[in-house]
Amino acid sequence: MRQKQRIGIMGGTFDPIHFGHLVTAEAARHRFDLTKVIFVPSGHPPHKQNRPVTPGAERLMMTLLATVANAHFVVSPWEVDRPQMSYTYDTMQAFHREYGEQAELFFITGADAVLEIMQWRKIDELIDFCSFIAATRPGYRLDGAALSHKLAEKVALMEVPALAISSSDIRHRVRQGEPIKYLLPETVEMYIYKHGLYQKAE
Ligand code: ATP
Ligand code: MG
Repeated sequence: MRQKQRIGIMGGTFDPIHFGHLVTAEAARHRFDLTKVIFVPSGHPPHKQNRPVTPGAERLMMTLLATVANAHFVVSPWEVDRPQMSYTYDTMQAFHREYGEQAELFFITGADAVLEIMQWRKIDELIDFCSFIAATRPGYRLDGAALSHKLAEKVALMEVPALAISSSDIRHRVRQGEPIKYLLPETVEMYIYKHGLYQKAE
């Protein structure tokens, strides 16, 4: 019998994608023996409406550039292509339908986002077919006790090298004329400068 596929989904705004995201995805792939990791840049992120987010096509392009060197990484335009706002539930449901019962789905997230998961739309339905891999991130402590019992069973913690890299810091640096080299792939850095991203105040 064919072994079940184990598929990681890495969701994010990726504005821009950086080494924190890539290290986390690769650590999850290795640790949890994932067949592949699908990066899914968000469409209209519900929690980031307070600042203008770079158009989906450009975030998608940067995500593609950042992942070409890893044979296990793929990028999905699923959320970017949808005109309406996507909730993680909708996205995971779409992948669940696509891969069927023969695949196990793992949503990879930073530990800073784990406590928010409980507030997600249709979380009870989501955890019926999806597990979570939560990467520890500097400055955030994950208090397992704060998770609901049912969710705690579905969340696996994973330590990743402490990378204090964030997209907001990178955007800030670009605006200030500070270097961003070595914080993200060189191709993404070149894309940012070539297209004049992050020059204006947010
Ligand atoms: P912003 O600063 O704009 O919030 P971000 O760097 O947090 O951006 P997102 O696109 O919001 O990037 O994050 C996508 C996912 O990656 C989230 O689950 C987040 O917790 C995780 N993540 C982001 N940066 C890191 C990092 N340095 N180490 C581990 N996980 C990270
Ligand atoms: Mg964030």
